[in-house]
Amino acid sequence: MKIVFLGAPGAGKGTHAQQLMKELGIPQISTGDMFRRAIREETPTGLQAKSYMDKGELVPDEVVIAMVKERLAEDDCKNGYILDGFPRTVAQAEAMEEFATIDLALNIDVPAELIISRLSSRRMCAGCGATYNITLHNSDKCSTCGGELYQRDDDKPETIRKRLDVYEEKTAPLVAYYREKGLLSTATLLGTIEENNEVVRAALNKKD
Ligand code: ADP
Ligand code: ZN
Repeated sequence: MKIVFLGAPGAGKGTHAQQLMKELGIPQISTGDMFRRAIREETPTGLQAKSYMDKGELVPDEVVIAMVKERLAEDDCKNGYILDGFPRTVAQAEAMEEFATIDLALNIDVPAELIISRLSSRRMCAGCGATYNITLHNSDKCSTCGGELYQRDDDKPETIRKRLDVYEEKTAPLVAYYREKGLLSTATLLGTIEENNEVVRAALNKKD
C-alpha cells in the first residue's frame, strides 16, 4: 500500500507513521528526517535545506522532489511505503504523479490548540529519530535505543507559529486535492495514543 500522510506539524504524522511501518512492514519515508540526516552529514542536499528549515520555511520543491524520487526507487519501496511530510505543496503532489501512484491520503486531523502545546513539549531522539512528549516521558533518554533526547531548533515558539502559517497556506490545500481524487481518508485524533492508533488503523480501510 502506498500511503501519503497529511496533517499539520505536530499532528502526530511521525508517531503514527512509525506505528504503521511496524504493523504493515513497509518503510516510513520522512522527508524531515531525511533532511535532518543530510544536514548532519553535510551533504549538498543538507546544505541547501538548512537555511529554510531553520526559519520554518519549506525547502524548494525541486530539492525535495529529487530526493523523494530517488528514495522511492530503492528496493524496500517495492511493496509500498508511508510518505510522512511529502507532498507538502500541490506542485509536489503533481510532480509525484509522474513517478508514484498513491492508494490513500490519510489526513491526520487534530485541533489547533493541541498542536501548539504538543510541539513545544516535543523532544526527539538523536539516535533513532523517535519522538517523545516531555510531559509524558520522565527521562532525557530514548527508551528504545538509549539515545539523548533534544529539542529541534524549529520547535522553538516563534518557528512553530511560522510553520503553522506555512502549513495553512501551502499544505492544507492538499486535503481538497486528494479529496477530489477520491483518495482521502480522515482520522480525527482526540484520544490517547492507543485510541488514536485504532482510529488510524480504521482509516486505512475507508475513504471519506
Ligand atoms: P513537521 O511535520 O513537524 O513540520 P518535518 O520533520 O516533517 O516536521 O519537517 C521539518 C522541516 O523540513 C519543514 O519545516 C521543512 O522546512 C522541511 N521539509 C520537510 N518535508 C518537506 C517537503 N515535502 N517540502 C518542503 N520542505 C520540507
Ligand atoms: Zn532512540
